[in-house]
Amino acid sequence: MKEVFGYISHLLGFEKLSDYEKEYLHDANIRTSCYMGVIVCFLEIWMLLRQTRSKIIPKYQAGGDFFQLFVTYTSKYWLFLLIGMGIMLFCFYQRNAKLTKRQYRSLITVGSACVLYTSVLSLETFTKESDTITPVMANIMNAMLLSVYFFLFLIGVTIIAYAIFKYKKNKRVVLFEHLTMICFTLVCLAFGVFVSYSDFWGGKEIICFLTMVIYVGCLLIYRPFVTVLILGASFYAFYHVLLTYQNGLSFQYQEVIISGAAQKIISGDTVNYVTFFISLTTICFAIYHGRLNEAKKSKALEKSAQEDSLTGLHNYNYFSELAKQAVQGITENFSENVFLFIDVHNFKAFNDQRGFEAGNLFLIAIGKYISTVFADSLYARQADDHFVVLTKTAGLMEKLSELNDLVHHYDDEIMLTVNCGSYHLSNNQEDPRMAIDRARYAAHLIKNRFQTIYAEYDKTMSEEYHKRLYVVNNIDNAVKNGWIVPFYQPVVWSDTKELCGCEALARWMDPVYGQLYPSEFIPVLEEYRLIHKLDKSIFESVCKDIRAALDAGRPVVPVSLNFSRLDFELMDAVQELEDLVAKYAVPKDLIHVEVTESALTDNFLKLNEAMNRIKELGYSLWLDDFGSGYSSLNVLKDYQFDVIKIDMRFLSNLENSEKSRTLIDCIVKMANRINMLTLTEGVETKMQADFLNQIGCNRLQGYLFGKPLPKAELFARIDAKELQVSGKQI
Ligand code: C2E
Ligand code: MG
Ligand code: MG
Repeated sequence: MKEVFGYISHLLGFEKLSDYEKEYLHDANIRTSCYMGVIVCFLEIWMLLRQTRSKIIPKYQAGGDFFQLFVTYTSKYWLFLLIGMGIMLFCFYQRNAKLTKRQYRSLITVGSACVLYTSVLSLETFTKESDTITPVMANIMNAMLLSVYFFLFLIGVTIIAYAIFKYKKNKRVVLFEHLTMICFTLVCLAFGVFVSYSDFWGGKEIICFLTMVIYVGCLLIYRPFVTVLILGASFYAFYHVLLTYQNGLSFQYQEVIISGAAQKIISGDTVNYVTFFISLTTICFAIYHGRLNEAKKSKALEKSAQEDSLTGLHNYNYFSELAKQAVQGITENFSENVFLFIDVHNFKAFNDQRGFEAGNLFLIAIGKYISTVFADSLYARQADDHFVVLTKTAGLMEKLSELNDLVHHYDDEIMLTVNCGSYHLSNNQEDPRMAIDRARYAAHLIKNRFQTIYAEYDKTMSEEYHKRLYVVNNIDNAVKNGWIVPFYQPVVWSDTKELCGCEALARWMDPVYGQLYPSEFIPVLEEYRLIHKLDKSIFESVCKDIRAALDAGRPVVPVSLNFSRLDFELMDAVQELEDLVAKYAVPKDLIHVEVTESALTDNFLKLNEAMNRIKELGYSLWLDDFGSGYSSLNVLKDYQFDVIKIDMRFLSNLENSEKSRTLIDCIVKMANRINMLTLTEGVETKMQADFLNQIGCNRLQGYLFGKPLPKAELFARIDAKELQVSGKQI
């Protein structure tokens, strides 16, 4: 029983609709009203022209040329055109966050014109003598005309009220939109009844009435039970009007009935009326439910375009759109509005230790925390563990510390804290993406300083920020114009100190900033996922340099190339290298591939394959910066490296620290036991070099033997015999 009731109430449209569904149906209605407004205008004019040729109204027979008639008798119908325009404007502007002054004025003008015009026409209708037609007829026509004017008048008032309200309050005003639609419906129906009534009087068909009820019933979507009421009332009204006419017709005009249309009513075509009413109602039901389904589907689509699938927060694109509108709506005290970039110190460690699933749950929890703490603000997930917020400065620090507490207590063992950068607005034309980028930069500066949870972007950061932006925007130029060049740092055998290789280290020779060091461009290029462009360019330069040296008959040593973890994601790095090596005919044993330890802890499939391929293709594979990050000996177990490069941090305080010495000693021994050779980076003193030689570290690299040098200087040092090229290279 309950189900039956449920079904019936669903059928009749009594069910509760979501805001989205309501809005969807409503928007469709507003659009429809808009089109109908224009159609009605043209219909009106056409009707009028038709009537100017009618025999029925003697006044029309008086003649006059077409234009005269047109101007005289269409004057009031221009009103419809005006209304159409009003509704068009209305529809056009209703979506805007804020009306501009111009839009506001145009709406007010059109609305006022409607009000004035309808007032004047109503007055005229009141005072007009009913000259040519029966008194009953005249009254009915006047009443109808007046009701049409009244509704049009209402539309005018609505447009004005809407414009004022929206302009002042900057909000979408649903009530006014509903009012407009209702007015429009009534106007259409009244128009249909009126025109068909006069058609009927002239012995013609009642097409206009039917057209109008179809318009209202099928194009405008009301809930089914409302449609039944509206259509029922209109059919009844029309029927009633016709009968009244029938009875009130004076003898004098009976002859005018030509086709016997009136008889149809009398002779029982009522059944046809009812049938038509029922069919139309059924169609309306079907259309309503069809539209509702469309709304549901469209909601699902829209959701996926606006939502972050993991956390359910807005996604970054949608956030940027909303933030842009919000920013433009701010008119004063700009700096009280702040963009935040929030991520979590140590999220990566959490992910590594607790696993991917737990990482996802943590992200969902952060999303919830942010939506609770910044409930009245705009927020979204940008990507990874990055969240963005647009909020007010008042109470910001309290909110951040509340958020930090929540994040901090999420896991008892792993130290988790918030890392938040902020950027204060300076005007209402700022681009949210740029603002977030600056906030992100501020956050970036306190990365991994666990106790510091907040940094504000300020003027002093600006210069460095612009440099980063410059790098991102100019990487293509830099590659194209040859600003990226490899410098070569010597690598020597620890026993003979003879040159056994070089490491290619990128330098950016910039026309604006001068020489830039890797720390100024590598991290930012990695952050923006552009690093592969630089690396590809370095690989090519190195291959070219080797080729040139070989061609010139110079003694050549192997060069090690630094691969970023992202290279394997952003391009087919191994294939790129293969192609370049083939292009310049470089022997493979002259290229060493360096991959950092942190790159390999991510352990994704592509990386595994790439490492295996590098080995299969015959390149020597080196593990860079061993011991610099979260060392995982698994890396040594899972991959077969030829050489391990021990990070230079082990050398600091080597002279005084027994512990450091023991540690390096153990690493070297362990590496040897698993058939890997060792190289220590950052060797700066003779004592360090001697110690490393003594414990059996094979190769050394550091300022003691040479800083990274341009190719020409390296050759000069070799030529000057400051560096002896070793005959042994492996
Ligand atoms: P890395 O691969 O570990 O390179 C060694 C870094 O240590 C170089 O810094 C080098 O100049 C520096 N170094 C060498 N010996 C000494 C020394 O005795 N004392 C001190 N204090 N430093 C020494 P650089 O050239 O600034 O490069 C920094 C990092 O940037 C590199 O670390 C590497 O990870 C990255 N990098 C450099 N060039 C490239 C490149 O072409 N592609 C990629 N993906 N990364 C690169
Ligand atoms: Mg390296
Ligand atoms: Mg290194």
